[in-house]
Amino acid sequence: MSGKTPAIIPRTGKPEHTPAWQVELAQAVRSGDELLHLLDIQPDQLNIRPLTGDFPLRVPRGFVRRMSRGDPYDPLLLQVLPVHEETEAPGGYHMDPLREADDMPVPGLLHKYHGRALLTVTGACAVHCRYCFRRHFSYTDANPAQGQWAQVVDYLAAHAEIHELILSGGDPLSLTDDRLHRLTGRLGRIEHLQTLRIHTRIPVVLPERIDTGLLDWLAGLTLRTVMVVHCNHPNEIDDSVARAMQRLAQAGVTLLNQSVLLQGVNDDAGTLARLSERLFAAGILPYYLHQLDRVQGAAHFEVDDARARDLLCALRCRLPGYLVPRLVREVPGERSKQPL
Ligand SMILES: *Cc1c(COP(=O)(O)O)cnc(C)c1O
Ligand code: SF4
Repeated sequence: MSGKTPAIIPRTGKPEHTPAWQVELAQAVRSGDELLHLLDIQPDQLNIRPLTGDFPLRVPRGFVRRMSRGDPYDPLLLQVLPVHEETEAPGGYHMDPLREADDMPVPGLLHKYHGRALLTVTGACAVHCRYCFRRHFSYTDANPAQGQWAQVVDYLAAHAEIHELILSGGDPLSLTDDRLHRLTGRLGRIEHLQTLRIHTRIPVVLPERIDTGLLDWLAGLTLRTVMVVHCNHPNEIDDSVARAMQRLAQAGVTLLNQSVLLQGVNDDAGTLARLSERLFAAGILPYYLHQLDRVQGAAHFEVDDARARDLLCALRCRLPGYLVPRLVREVPGERSKQPL
């Protein structure tokens, strides 16, 4: 998220074979002009913000191919295109809306909720989502450096009540297989740790990442694995994503999804119902539907609570209970996400 080139290229300098997903990631679209050109949209149709700042446009080409050409209001495009509204600064929106910096016993490790701890392992993401609450997050301060990893493991080992470690970011799957192996290699020895959870948008935006290298890493884990992917609109799931999910399911990974409720993207009952159904068809159960975190630059995505509740009500009338996500908001200082 820092805008610097993320550490996704192996540092060894060995002339190894570069996995296809890294090539795909290196070729992600980073220019608004190019993105609009690919989609046959005239720049004057949109309020595009000049691409300066610490959170530039980034979107993999495979994700762009799922957008519809000529539609400036395409729900996938709206999630990634920087617009002028981002510079508005209404009251109540903050740089660090969740005040996460207060809950870190070790840099990068958030221990706020009982039984589980969340580790931000990298600031890098394959896509930059404009509504992201971590868009101003200081990953350079919050990522445990290699040397601090021992401190993280010590903390986990010393807290017998932690049964689940959540890898988050940024996107943990933007790390190389080699780094993932090194991260988790020492976790198996912590007896009370039972589950490894991975919060990631990569299986959706860069399904090429779910390759044999990643599946080998998953197969080698002694912990139960849960993957919470992040998908906001049914159009995000094409055949390549469905196949990636199938491989993960075959590897024994429990698949859940979290979405953010976004004005203009998925704030209608029909879209949300289709999202749940498409997720289920791909082997994924809906988990959370998040009310937007009030981060500066994202106010134009907010849906008010009354409408959010109405939408959920409409979903309950249409879908089996297991396809209705939990509508929640994160409130700083609370011991769990808060149901609306
Ligand atoms: C969201 C979150 C979790 C996970 O919460 P669940 O309700 O178990 O999904 C854990 N730790 C932190 C800091 C979180 O923000
Ligand atoms: S929502 Fe997830 S994938 Fe998107 S920018 Fe934020 S951390 Fe990265």
